[in-house]
Amino acid sequence: MSELFAQLWTPQMQTAFTVVVVLLVILYVLSIVWVVRDAYLRGAAWYVWAIVALVPIVGVIAYCLLRPPMLRIDKDEQELEVALKQRQLMKYGECATCGYPVEMDYVLCPNCHTQLKNLCSHCEKALEPAWTVCPYCATPVGGGSKSRSGSSSSRTRRRSHSSSSTASHES
Ligand SMILES: [Zn+2]
Ligand SMILES: [Zn+2]
Repeated sequence: MSELFAQLWTPQMQTAFTVVVVLLVILYVLSIVWVVRDAYLRGAAWYVWAIVALVPIVGVIAYCLLRPPMLRIDKDEQELEVALKQRQLMKYGECATCGYPVEMDYVLCPNCHTQLKNLCSHCEKALEPAWTVCPYCATPVGGGSKSRSGSSSSRTRRRSHSSSSTASHES
């Protein structure tokens, strides 16, 4: 048996064997590099996968089967897109009463005339009902503080719309 082996173990065979071993080692190293790089790009724990990839062949196959499905860049992009859509939805809201689509700076619903925003008494910009100060000119709004012109007139308008009797009682 060993004689047969010695006969087969020619210098050509030795060279071929060395070439094959070197190729396998290169492949092995490259597979580890690929796993680490891919795991990093996918936002996975790449150091864990580096250890897994040290197991020849099996490690790489395991990684191929279990790797996270999405690249991290894609994931970031998708999150950004969702955030952008939410912003657009915020910009174009809808009337709480009738559901008619209204824009951010609408003061009245064009469909059912419900008051959507207050007007700043100073700069006459549309303000959210919950705001206590105008973000454009820093004038305090509502909450007992004096509110002249635009704000008060639009408020009276709303009152007369919803319940004219209570409005006359108050004033
Ligand atoms: Zn409406
Ligand atoms: Zn203002």
